Amino acid sequence: MPAFDDSSAGRRLIGWLERLRGTSHDVPPAPLAAGRSLDYVLLEAVVSGLPDPVVVLDGDGRVLAFNAGAGTLAPALRRGEPASIALRTPELVEAIRAANASGRAQRIEFSTRVPSVRWSEAIIAPITLGGREPGRPGVVVITVHDLTPIHRVEEMRADFVANASHELRTPLAALSGFIETLQGPARDDTAARERFLGIMREQAWRMARLIDDLLSLSRIELRAHMRPDAPVDLVPIVRQVADGLQTLARDRGVAIEVAMPTEPLMVLGDRDELIRLFENLVENALKYGASGKRVDILLSSVQAADGRREARVAVRDHGPGIAAEHLPRLTERFYRVDVGESRAQGGTGLGLALVKHILNRHQGRLGIESKPGDGATFTARLPLA
Ligand code: ADP
Repeated sequence: MPAFDDSSAGRRLIGWLERLRGTSHDVPPAPLAAGRSLDYVLLEAVVSGLPDPVVVLDGDGRVLAFNAGAGTLAPALRRGEPASIALRTPELVEAIRAANASGRAQRIEFSTRVPSVRWSEAIIAPITLGGREPGRPGVVVITVHDLTPIHRVEEMRADFVANASHELRTPLAALSGFIETLQGPARDDTAARERFLGIMREQAWRMARLIDDLLSLSRIELRAHMRPDAPVDLVPIVRQVADGLQTLARDRGVAIEVAMPTEPLMVLGDRDELIRLFENLVENALKYGASGKRVDILLSSVQAADGRREARVAVRDHGPGIAAEHLPRLTERFYRVDVGESRAQGGTGLGLALVKHILNRHQGRLGIESKPGDGATFTARLPLA
Protein backbone atom coordinates (compact mmCIF):
# COMPACT_ATOMS: atom_id res chain seq x y z
CA MET A 1 0.00 0.00 0.00
CA PRO A 2 2.01 2.99 -1.20
CA ALA A 3 -0.16 5.78 0.24
CA PHE A 4 0.94 7.32 3.56
CA ASP A 5 4.01 5.08 3.50
CA ASP A 6 7.69 5.81 4.08
CA SER A 7 9.00 2.74 2.24
CA SER A 8 11.15 3.12 -0.85
CA ALA A 9 8.19 2.39 -3.13
CA GLY A 10 6.32 5.01 -1.19
CA ARG A 11 9.22 7.47 -1.63
CA ARG A 12 9.24 6.82 -5.39
CA LEU A 13 5.52 7.52 -5.48
CA ILE A 14 5.99 10.68 -3.43
CA GLY A 15 8.64 11.86 -5.87
CA TRP A 16 6.32 11.16 -8.75
CA LEU A 17 3.51 13.02 -7.04
CA GLU A 18 5.82 15.93 -6.29
CA ARG A 19 6.62 16.16 -10.01
CA LEU A 20 2.94 15.94 -10.78
CA ARG A 21 2.31 18.76 -8.32
CA GLY A 22 4.88 20.86 -10.04
CA THR A 23 3.38 20.41 -13.48
CA SER A 24 -0.34 20.14 -12.95
CA HIS A 25 -2.66 22.95 -11.92
CA ASP A 26 -5.16 20.30 -10.95
CA VAL A 27 -3.28 19.01 -7.96
CA PRO A 28 -2.92 21.25 -4.91
CA PRO A 29 0.04 21.06 -2.54
CA ALA A 30 -0.62 18.33 -0.03
CA PRO A 31 -0.99 19.60 3.56
CA LEU A 32 0.89 16.74 5.09
CA ALA A 33 3.70 16.17 7.54
CA ALA A 34 7.22 15.70 6.18
CA GLY A 35 7.91 12.33 4.62
CA ARG A 36 4.27 11.59 3.96
CA SER A 37 2.15 12.23 0.93
CA LEU A 38 -1.30 11.68 -0.40
CA ASP A 39 -1.74 9.33 -3.31
CA TYR A 40 -3.92 11.55 -5.50
CA VAL A 41 -4.25 8.96 -8.22
CA LEU A 42 -5.56 6.37 -5.79
CA LEU A 43 -7.73 8.97 -4.06
CA GLU A 44 -9.32 10.01 -7.35
CA ALA A 45 -9.84 6.39 -8.38
CA VAL A 46 -11.60 5.57 -5.10
CA VAL A 47 -13.71 8.72 -5.14
CA SER A 48 -14.76 8.24 -8.77
CA GLY A 49 -15.88 4.68 -8.01
CA LEU A 50 -18.25 5.71 -5.21
CA PRO A 51 -21.92 5.79 -6.21
CA ASP A 52 -22.88 8.93 -4.23
CA PRO A 53 -21.51 12.45 -4.80
CA VAL A 54 -18.24 12.75 -2.82
CA VAL A 55 -15.85 15.69 -2.31
CA VAL A 56 -12.54 15.45 -0.42
CA LEU A 57 -11.09 18.68 1.03
CA ASP A 58 -7.77 19.39 2.64
CA GLY A 59 -7.52 20.90 6.13
CA ASP A 60 -7.83 24.43 4.69
CA GLY A 61 -11.07 23.68 2.85
CA ARG A 62 -9.51 23.35 -0.62
CA VAL A 63 -10.76 20.65 -2.99
CA LEU A 64 -8.44 17.63 -3.27
CA ALA A 65 -10.76 15.37 -5.26
CA PHE A 66 -14.42 14.97 -6.27
CA ASN A 67 -16.40 12.61 -8.42
CA ALA A 68 -18.79 13.13 -11.31
CA GLY A 69 -21.85 13.08 -9.02
CA ALA A 70 -20.42 15.95 -6.97
CA GLY A 71 -19.53 17.81 -10.17
CA THR A 72 -23.17 17.61 -11.25
CA LEU A 73 -24.40 18.91 -7.88
CA ALA A 74 -21.83 21.73 -7.73
CA PRO A 75 -20.56 22.46 -11.28
CA ALA A 76 -18.17 25.18 -10.03
CA LEU A 77 -16.02 22.70 -8.03
CA ARG A 78 -12.32 22.89 -9.07
CA ARG A 79 -9.38 20.99 -7.67
CA GLY A 80 -7.10 23.21 -5.61
CA GLU A 81 -9.74 25.88 -5.06
CA PRO A 82 -11.65 26.58 -1.84
CA ALA A 83 -14.82 24.49 -1.78
CA SER A 84 -16.77 27.37 -0.25
CA ILE A 85 -16.70 29.16 -3.63
CA ALA A 86 -18.46 26.29 -5.37
CA LEU A 87 -20.86 25.17 -2.64
CA ARG A 88 -23.97 27.29 -2.81
CA THR A 89 -25.56 25.85 0.32
CA PRO A 90 -24.68 28.00 3.36
CA GLU A 91 -25.56 25.14 5.78
CA LEU A 92 -22.99 22.94 4.07
CA VAL A 93 -20.23 25.54 4.27
CA GLU A 94 -21.06 26.07 7.95
CA ALA A 95 -21.02 22.31 8.60
CA ILE A 96 -17.55 22.00 7.00
CA ARG A 97 -16.33 24.77 9.28
CA ALA A 98 -17.89 23.02 12.31
CA ALA A 99 -16.35 19.67 11.32
CA ASN A 100 -12.91 21.29 11.02
CA ALA A 101 -13.26 23.14 14.31
CA SER A 102 -14.59 20.23 16.36
CA GLY A 103 -12.90 17.30 14.63
CA ARG A 104 -16.28 15.55 14.73
CA ALA A 105 -18.48 14.38 11.84
CA GLN A 106 -21.47 16.58 11.02
CA ARG A 107 -24.76 15.66 9.33
CA ILE A 108 -27.06 18.14 7.63
CA GLU A 109 -30.16 17.98 5.45
CA PHE A 110 -30.76 20.54 2.75
CA SER A 111 -32.90 21.06 -0.32
CA THR A 112 -32.13 22.53 -3.73
CA ARG A 113 -34.70 23.92 -6.18
CA VAL A 114 -32.82 24.02 -9.48
CA PRO A 115 -33.35 22.30 -11.90
CA SER A 116 -36.03 20.53 -9.81
CA VAL A 117 -36.76 20.23 -6.10
CA ARG A 118 -34.42 17.70 -4.46
CA TRP A 119 -33.71 16.84 -0.84
CA SER A 120 -30.26 15.69 0.22
CA GLU A 121 -28.30 14.66 3.27
CA ALA A 122 -24.59 15.45 3.62
CA ILE A 123 -22.18 13.75 6.01
CA ILE A 124 -19.04 15.82 6.62
CA ALA A 125 -16.38 13.60 8.13
CA PRO A 126 -13.02 15.05 9.27
CA ILE A 127 -10.33 12.37 8.96
CA THR A 128 -7.07 12.68 10.90
CA LEU A 129 -4.17 11.36 8.87
CA GLY A 130 -1.29 9.48 10.47
CA GLY A 131 1.58 11.68 11.71
CA ARG A 132 -0.57 14.68 12.46
CA GLU A 133 -1.31 15.95 15.91
CA PRO A 134 -4.62 14.54 17.17
CA GLY A 135 -7.69 16.71 16.82
CA ARG A 136 -6.40 18.50 13.71
CA PRO A 137 -8.00 16.95 10.61
CA GLY A 138 -5.97 15.99 7.60
CA VAL A 139 -8.79 15.76 5.10
CA VAL A 140 -12.53 16.30 5.17
CA VAL A 141 -14.71 13.84 3.26
CA ILE A 142 -18.16 15.09 2.23
CA THR A 143 -20.66 12.45 1.10
CA VAL A 144 -24.09 13.43 -0.21
CA HIS A 145 -27.11 11.10 -0.24
CA ASP A 146 -30.24 11.77 -2.27
CA LEU A 147 -33.25 11.80 0.06
CA THR A 148 -35.72 12.86 -2.66
CA PRO A 149 -37.36 9.42 -3.16
CA ILE A 150 -37.83 9.03 0.62
CA HIS A 151 -39.34 12.52 0.86
CA ARG A 152 -41.69 11.77 -2.05
CA VAL A 153 -42.90 8.56 -0.39
CA GLU A 154 -43.44 10.45 2.87
CA GLU A 155 -45.40 13.15 1.05
CA MET A 156 -47.53 10.54 -0.72
CA ARG A 157 -48.26 8.79 2.57
CA ALA A 158 -49.22 12.08 4.24
CA ASP A 159 -51.48 12.97 1.26
CA PHE A 160 -53.04 9.53 1.41
CA VAL A 161 -53.83 9.78 5.12
CA ALA A 162 -55.25 13.30 4.63
CA ASN A 163 -57.44 12.11 1.72
CA ALA A 164 -58.64 8.98 3.52
CA SER A 165 -59.48 10.98 6.67
CA HIS A 166 -61.35 13.56 4.64
CA GLU A 167 -63.34 10.84 2.82
CA LEU A 168 -64.31 9.27 6.15
CA ARG A 169 -65.05 12.55 7.88
CA THR A 170 -67.72 13.59 5.37
CA PRO A 171 -70.15 10.68 5.98
CA LEU A 172 -69.27 10.72 9.68
CA ALA A 173 -70.28 14.40 9.92
CA ALA A 174 -73.56 13.58 8.16
CA LEU A 175 -74.24 10.73 10.60
CA SER A 176 -73.53 12.90 13.67
CA GLY A 177 -75.76 15.66 12.29
CA PHE A 178 -78.69 13.30 11.76
CA ILE A 179 -78.25 11.70 15.19
CA GLU A 180 -78.46 15.15 16.81
CA THR A 181 -81.53 16.05 14.75
CA LEU A 182 -83.23 12.79 15.69
CA GLN A 183 -82.48 13.36 19.36
CA GLY A 184 -83.66 16.99 19.16
CA PRO A 185 -86.04 18.71 16.76
CA ALA A 186 -87.16 15.55 14.88
CA ARG A 187 -87.63 13.44 18.01
CA ASP A 188 -91.38 12.92 17.42
CA ASP A 189 -91.46 13.27 13.64
CA THR A 190 -91.98 9.72 12.32
CA ALA A 191 -91.75 10.65 8.64
CA ALA A 192 -88.50 12.60 9.10
CA ARG A 193 -87.06 9.76 11.20
CA GLU A 194 -87.66 7.22 8.44
CA ARG A 195 -86.08 9.48 5.83
CA PHE A 196 -83.06 10.33 8.00
CA LEU A 197 -82.48 6.68 8.93
CA GLY A 198 -82.42 5.85 5.21
CA ILE A 199 -79.73 8.50 4.59
CA MET A 200 -77.79 7.33 7.66
CA ARG A 201 -77.78 3.75 6.40
CA GLU A 202 -76.40 4.97 3.06
CA GLN A 203 -73.65 7.01 4.76
CA ALA A 204 -72.69 4.11 7.03
CA TRP A 205 -72.57 1.85 3.97
CA ARG A 206 -70.32 4.38 2.24
CA MET A 207 -67.90 4.38 5.19
CA ALA A 208 -67.87 0.59 5.27
CA ARG A 209 -67.13 0.45 1.54
CA LEU A 210 -64.29 2.94 1.87
CA ILE A 211 -62.71 0.99 4.74
CA ASP A 212 -63.15 -2.22 2.76
CA ASP A 213 -61.35 -0.69 -0.27
CA LEU A 214 -58.57 0.73 1.93
CA LEU A 215 -57.98 -2.67 3.53
CA SER A 216 -58.00 -4.44 0.16
CA LEU A 217 -55.50 -1.94 -1.19
CA SER A 218 -53.10 -2.40 1.72
CA ARG A 219 -53.45 -6.23 1.55
CA ILE A 220 -52.61 -6.20 -2.15
CA GLU A 221 -49.68 -3.83 -1.58
CA LEU A 222 -48.30 -6.06 1.17
CA ARG A 223 -48.27 -8.97 -1.27
CA ALA A 224 -47.14 -6.87 -4.25
CA HIS A 225 -43.91 -8.85 -4.68
CA MET A 226 -45.45 -12.29 -4.31
CA ARG A 227 -46.52 -13.34 -7.74
CA PRO A 228 -49.69 -15.50 -7.67
CA ASP A 229 -48.93 -19.05 -8.85
CA ALA A 230 -52.31 -20.80 -9.05
CA PRO A 231 -53.54 -21.49 -12.61
CA VAL A 232 -57.00 -19.94 -13.06
CA ASP A 233 -59.32 -19.73 -16.06
CA LEU A 234 -60.50 -16.17 -16.80
CA VAL A 235 -63.56 -17.31 -18.77
CA PRO A 236 -65.72 -18.48 -15.79
CA ILE A 237 -64.39 -15.59 -13.65
CA VAL A 238 -65.57 -12.94 -16.10
CA ARG A 239 -68.87 -14.79 -16.64
CA GLN A 240 -69.44 -14.85 -12.85
CA VAL A 241 -68.71 -11.10 -12.62
CA ALA A 242 -71.11 -10.29 -15.48
CA ASP A 243 -73.86 -12.46 -13.94
CA GLY A 244 -73.32 -10.92 -10.49
CA LEU A 245 -73.78 -7.40 -11.86
CA GLN A 246 -77.01 -8.11 -13.76
CA THR A 247 -79.14 -6.50 -11.04
CA LEU A 248 -77.12 -3.26 -11.15
CA ALA A 249 -77.26 -3.36 -14.98
CA ARG A 250 -81.06 -3.73 -14.92
CA ASP A 251 -81.34 -0.86 -12.41
CA ARG A 252 -79.35 1.35 -14.76
CA GLY A 253 -81.14 0.18 -17.90
CA VAL A 254 -77.93 -1.26 -19.38
CA ALA A 255 -77.45 -4.54 -21.27
CA ILE A 256 -74.18 -6.44 -20.70
CA GLU A 257 -72.93 -8.23 -23.84
CA VAL A 258 -70.16 -10.79 -23.27
CA ALA A 259 -68.04 -12.29 -26.07
CA MET A 260 -65.60 -15.01 -24.96
CA PRO A 261 -63.63 -17.82 -26.56
CA THR A 262 -64.78 -21.44 -26.23
CA GLU A 263 -61.39 -22.60 -24.91
CA PRO A 264 -60.07 -21.67 -21.43
CA LEU A 265 -57.87 -18.57 -20.93
CA MET A 266 -55.45 -19.76 -18.25
CA VAL A 267 -53.36 -17.27 -16.25
CA LEU A 268 -51.43 -17.55 -12.99
CA GLY A 269 -53.60 -15.59 -10.60
CA ASP A 270 -55.45 -14.97 -7.39
CA ARG A 271 -59.10 -15.75 -8.11
CA ASP A 272 -60.59 -13.31 -5.58
CA GLU A 273 -58.38 -10.46 -6.74
CA LEU A 274 -59.22 -11.10 -10.39
CA ILE A 275 -62.94 -11.09 -9.58
CA ARG A 276 -62.45 -7.77 -7.79
CA LEU A 277 -60.54 -6.36 -10.77
CA PHE A 278 -63.25 -7.18 -13.34
CA GLU A 279 -66.05 -6.19 -10.95
CA ASN A 280 -64.52 -2.73 -10.63
CA LEU A 281 -64.16 -2.28 -14.38
CA VAL A 282 -67.66 -3.51 -15.24
CA GLU A 283 -69.26 -1.63 -12.33
CA ASN A 284 -67.58 1.62 -13.48
CA ALA A 285 -68.85 1.04 -17.03
CA LEU A 286 -72.39 0.50 -15.67
CA LYS A 287 -72.21 3.52 -13.36
CA TYR A 288 -70.46 6.11 -15.50
CA GLY A 289 -71.42 4.84 -18.97
CA ALA A 290 -75.10 4.03 -18.25
CA SER A 291 -76.31 6.56 -20.81
CA GLY A 292 -74.81 4.35 -23.55
CA LYS A 293 -77.28 1.57 -22.61
CA ARG A 294 -74.77 -1.17 -23.45
CA VAL A 295 -71.56 -2.53 -21.96
CA ASP A 296 -69.45 -4.95 -24.03
CA ILE A 297 -67.01 -7.37 -22.42
CA LEU A 298 -64.60 -9.01 -24.85
CA LEU A 299 -62.20 -11.80 -23.83
CA SER A 300 -59.46 -12.85 -26.22
CA SER A 301 -55.96 -14.26 -26.39
CA VAL A 302 -53.55 -12.14 -28.41
CA GLN A 303 -49.90 -12.16 -29.41
CA ALA A 304 -48.25 -9.25 -27.54
CA ALA A 305 -45.57 -7.03 -29.07
CA ASP A 306 -42.82 -9.05 -27.32
CA GLY A 307 -44.04 -12.29 -28.93
CA ARG A 308 -45.62 -13.76 -25.79
CA ARG A 309 -49.30 -14.64 -25.74
CA GLU A 310 -51.51 -12.69 -23.40
CA ALA A 311 -55.11 -12.71 -22.26
CA ARG A 312 -57.09 -9.54 -22.86
CA VAL A 313 -60.28 -8.53 -21.18
CA ALA A 314 -61.73 -5.34 -22.65
CA VAL A 315 -64.66 -3.60 -20.96
CA ARG A 316 -66.26 -1.06 -23.27
CA ASP A 317 -69.08 1.31 -22.51
CA HIS A 318 -70.87 3.78 -24.77
CA GLY A 319 -71.32 6.58 -22.24
CA PRO A 320 -69.89 10.12 -22.22
CA GLY A 321 -66.27 8.93 -22.17
CA ILE A 322 -63.35 10.63 -20.41
CA ALA A 323 -61.37 13.70 -21.53
CA ALA A 324 -57.73 12.93 -22.47
CA GLU A 325 -56.19 15.00 -19.66
CA HIS A 326 -57.74 12.72 -17.01
CA LEU A 327 -56.61 9.39 -18.49
CA PRO A 328 -53.07 9.26 -17.02
CA ARG A 329 -54.36 10.09 -13.52
CA LEU A 330 -57.38 7.77 -13.26
CA THR A 331 -55.48 5.05 -11.37
CA GLU A 332 -54.25 7.47 -8.67
CA ARG A 333 -55.89 6.93 -5.30
CA PHE A 334 -58.90 9.19 -4.79
CA TYR A 335 -58.61 10.72 -8.26
CA ARG A 336 -62.04 11.30 -9.76
CA VAL A 337 -63.12 13.17 -12.88
CA ASP A 338 -66.21 14.42 -11.07
CA VAL A 339 -66.18 13.99 -7.28
CA GLY A 340 -69.90 14.73 -6.95
CA GLU A 341 -70.87 12.11 -9.51
CA SER A 342 -68.54 9.51 -8.02
CA ARG A 343 -70.06 10.06 -4.55
CA ALA A 344 -73.59 9.94 -5.96
CA GLN A 345 -72.69 6.57 -7.50
CA GLY A 346 -71.30 5.28 -4.19
CA GLY A 347 -67.72 5.52 -5.47
CA THR A 348 -64.69 5.68 -3.19
CA GLY A 349 -62.13 6.84 -5.76
CA LEU A 350 -60.06 3.73 -5.05
CA GLY A 351 -61.50 1.29 -7.61
CA LEU A 352 -59.01 1.88 -10.42
CA ALA A 353 -56.09 2.13 -7.96
CA LEU A 354 -57.06 -1.40 -6.84
CA VAL A 355 -57.29 -2.52 -10.48
CA LYS A 356 -53.78 -1.21 -11.17
CA HIS A 357 -52.27 -2.86 -8.09
CA ILE A 358 -53.94 -6.20 -8.80
CA LEU A 359 -52.66 -6.11 -12.38
CA ASN A 360 -49.13 -5.18 -11.25
CA ARG A 361 -49.07 -8.16 -8.90
CA HIS A 362 -50.15 -10.37 -11.80
CA GLN A 363 -47.53 -8.81 -14.10
CA GLY A 364 -50.36 -7.44 -16.18
CA ARG A 365 -51.14 -3.99 -17.53
CA LEU A 366 -54.14 -1.71 -17.81
CA GLY A 367 -54.92 0.22 -21.00
CA ILE A 368 -57.50 3.03 -21.06
CA GLU A 369 -58.85 4.48 -24.28
CA SER A 370 -61.61 6.99 -24.62
CA LYS A 371 -63.02 9.48 -27.04
CA PRO A 372 -65.21 12.01 -25.25
CA GLY A 373 -68.78 11.44 -26.41
CA ASP A 374 -68.02 7.89 -27.54
CA GLY A 375 -67.55 5.89 -24.33
CA ALA A 376 -64.44 4.36 -22.78
CA THR A 377 -62.58 1.05 -23.08
CA PHE A 378 -60.60 -0.35 -20.14
CA THR A 379 -58.39 -3.29 -21.20
CA ALA A 380 -56.68 -5.64 -18.73
CA ARG A 381 -53.77 -7.60 -20.23
CA LEU A 382 -52.40 -10.62 -18.40
CA PRO A 383 -49.66 -13.05 -19.47
CA LEU A 384 -51.12 -16.46 -20.39
CA ALA A 385 -49.93 -19.36 -18.22
P1 ADP B 1 -64.81 5.59 -8.12
O1 ADP B 1 -64.97 4.93 -6.83
O2 ADP B 1 -64.96 7.08 -8.06
O3 ADP B 1 -65.62 4.97 -9.21
P2 ADP B 1 -62.50 4.65 -9.61
O4 ADP B 1 -61.07 4.64 -9.20
O5 ADP B 1 -63.14 3.34 -9.92
O6 ADP B 1 -63.26 5.41 -8.45
O7 ADP B 1 -62.64 5.60 -10.86
C1 ADP B 1 -62.05 6.87 -10.82
C2 ADP B 1 -62.82 7.85 -11.70
O8 ADP B 1 -62.65 7.48 -13.07
C3 ADP B 1 -64.31 7.85 -11.49
O9 ADP B 1 -64.66 8.68 -10.41
C4 ADP B 1 -64.81 8.37 -12.81
O10 ADP B 1 -64.73 9.80 -12.79
C5 ADP B 1 -63.79 7.86 -13.82
N1 ADP B 1 -64.26 6.66 -14.55
C6 ADP B 1 -63.97 5.37 -14.28
N2 ADP B 1 -64.53 4.54 -15.18
C7 ADP B 1 -65.20 5.33 -16.05
C8 ADP B 1 -65.98 5.08 -17.24
N3 ADP B 1 -66.22 3.84 -17.69
N4 ADP B 1 -66.50 6.16 -17.90
C9 ADP B 1 -66.28 7.41 -17.45
N5 ADP B 1 -65.54 7.71 -16.36
C10 ADP B 1 -65.01 6.69 -15.66
